[in-house]
Amino acid sequence: MNTNLQYTRRASVGVQVGALTIGGEHPIVVQSMTNTDTADAAATVKQVQQLAAAGSELVRITVNTEEAADQVGRIRDRLDALGCRVPLIGDFHYNGHVLLTKYPACAEALAKYRINPGNVGFGRKRDAQFATMIEVAVARRKPVRIGVNWGSLDPALVTSMMDDNAQLSQPKSAAEVTREALIQSALLSAAKAEELGLARDRIVLSCKVSGVQDLVAVYCELAQRCDYALHLGLTEAGMGSKGIVASTAGMGILLQQGIGDTIRVSLTPEPNGDRTKEVIVAQEILQTLGLRSFTPLVTACPGCGRTTSTVFQELAEDIQAYVRTQMPLWSNQYPGVETMTLAVMGCVVNGPGESKHANIGISLPGSGEAPAAPVFIDGDKAMTLRGDNIAADFKSILNNYVQSHYSARQPTATTDAAA
Ligand code: SF4
Repeated sequence: MNTNLQYTRRASVGVQVGALTIGGEHPIVVQSMTNTDTADAAATVKQVQQLAAAGSELVRITVNTEEAADQVGRIRDRLDALGCRVPLIGDFHYNGHVLLTKYPACAEALAKYRINPGNVGFGRKRDAQFATMIEVAVARRKPVRIGVNWGSLDPALVTSMMDDNAQLSQPKSAAEVTREALIQSALLSAAKAEELGLARDRIVLSCKVSGVQDLVAVYCELAQRCDYALHLGLTEAGMGSKGIVASTAGMGILLQQGIGDTIRVSLTPEPNGDRTKEVIVAQEILQTLGLRSFTPLVTACPGCGRTTSTVFQELAEDIQAYVRTQMPLWSNQYPGVETMTLAVMGCVVNGPGESKHANIGISLPGSGEAPAAPVFIDGDKAMTLRGDNIAADFKSILNNYVQSHYSARQPTATTDAAA
């Protein structure tokens, strides 16, 4: 059994995307994708803002039509005017060679292009169309993600590899050949891009599949065979808990092995559901693995027969939501606050013990216990809350802790003058 829990990041070539870097020694980047019609600039700007506000550090938009390409420059301008600087990535399929050349404002406004080698074009046109997109990227000094997808794998490559496999004395399974085809498609396309002049530090690779074991197998192999920065994610992870569990299981295994420089959790939102959920899940995967800190997380017990009310669940949810809404302000004023830990527990069995492990912990009274909620701060019992205002009192304790423990940034001269 491997008992070595030390985390070592796989060495990769860093890729500059706007103001941030994917790969190298840089923190693993969280990204997301809009599901608005990019031709609807107002809706797209609104959703990009929401995703960025939730913590998405890159946002991908589809650029699938001339109308969409025509709006990309305006979308960038509007976001800039609103103070939203998140880099935009353009997702191109089939007509990217046309859109990137016919709409220079679109090509310039995007910080990175995503090209799927399986959806570049057909027959002899394929290589020329791929080359056109890479040449635009080279000329505009833009990075490219070569993003291969299980569902749109280059059919000519798969057929040729299946034919070769059939000639072997001990042929591999179709699944093995398909996994190898994914890897080959990514590596051959990256080599072609380099031949066309795209530097290694402008290439990110991904090989997305929808099964966890396939994801792990493909990325472990890909990680050994190249040092390109890798984008990690399941394609079509699914809805609700299925999508979250599958993404967490697959990415967790790989991230723990140091594989992955940027991640996206491709959740299918509920109808009219909140798109930002995929950002929060991605952050929580990285934070629970101890790879990055984004926002203080609340540890809560699952509850059991010792709690006959929903008070502690409501308090846990309330505190987590409160912390998230405060973070845009706190992260600016109180550096390091994202590492703070909180615990909301349901009774005295594990409550005080778990609370002592958190920066601030509260143990609510279980059934038959005295109506008192001891609060622990940095391991020591600090006070006991009682009455109907426990949530408000706990938030007040939380605010005081944040203000006193995370050094506030000094006001700038401009702020002083404005004040
Ligand atoms: S802390 Fe108490 S309420 Fe929570 S799960 Fe444990 S025994 Fe049950």
